[in-house]
Amino acid sequence: MVAFTLVPLTLAVGVGWAAATDNMFPTYVNDSHCWTGFRKGSPCQTDNRDVYFYMDSHGEYMLEAVDKKTVNAAIDGEYRPTDLAFHYDSTPVFKGSGETDIVYQEGSTGLPDSVAGTTWCDAAGGDGVDCDQQFIRVRGAGYYTYARSCHETGHAVGLQHGDNSNPRLSRTDSRLGCLVTPSTGHNDLGANNVTNINATY
Ligand SMILES: [Zn+2]
Repeated sequence: MVAFTLVPLTLAVGVGWAAATDNMFPTYVNDSHCWTGFRKGSPCQTDNRDVYFYMDSHGEYMLEAVDKKTVNAAIDGEYRPTDLAFHYDSTPVFKGSGETDIVYQEGSTGLPDSVAGTTWCDAAGGDGVDCDQQFIRVRGAGYYTYARSCHETGHAVGLQHGDNSNPRLSRTDSRLGCLVTPSTGHNDLGANNVTNINATY
């Protein structure tokens, strides 16, 4: 997979780099390929600074109104202040070259008992780094917290846990903001993640 192994450009930019760690996929310690498939690999980058998102509104994986409100609050509070531009997509696209970037679901299908939520790529791009469409699935009945919404949305734009960051950090290092694992109580995206996002998009 050498052809797809990119040196993160963020590391080459010496000036103004104030992050605690590089946790934007691919990192030096996690330079794997972006794969298509449920829980098949690392979270990938999204393919554009304009991020179109949809929250399932009917069917098996629909979010309740309270969960939608929480997801919107986390996007408004943590992601809109970054260089990413989030847009709600009420007519989501699931096929072709311009799919809706993030689809939020509520449900537990396929999740191991110990896992509250997950993010996966459903349409890897050709460069091995980007994903055209990422799904977020979080259990029902109270699991769609602000912190977890911040955490999984972070994965959907490429942010990694501490053990996949360079330099490696403990998965509970508070500098990881809401990418701390488990995210409970860590509501803020935080300076490290904002720096990584803004250096990438
Ligand atoms: Zn995670």
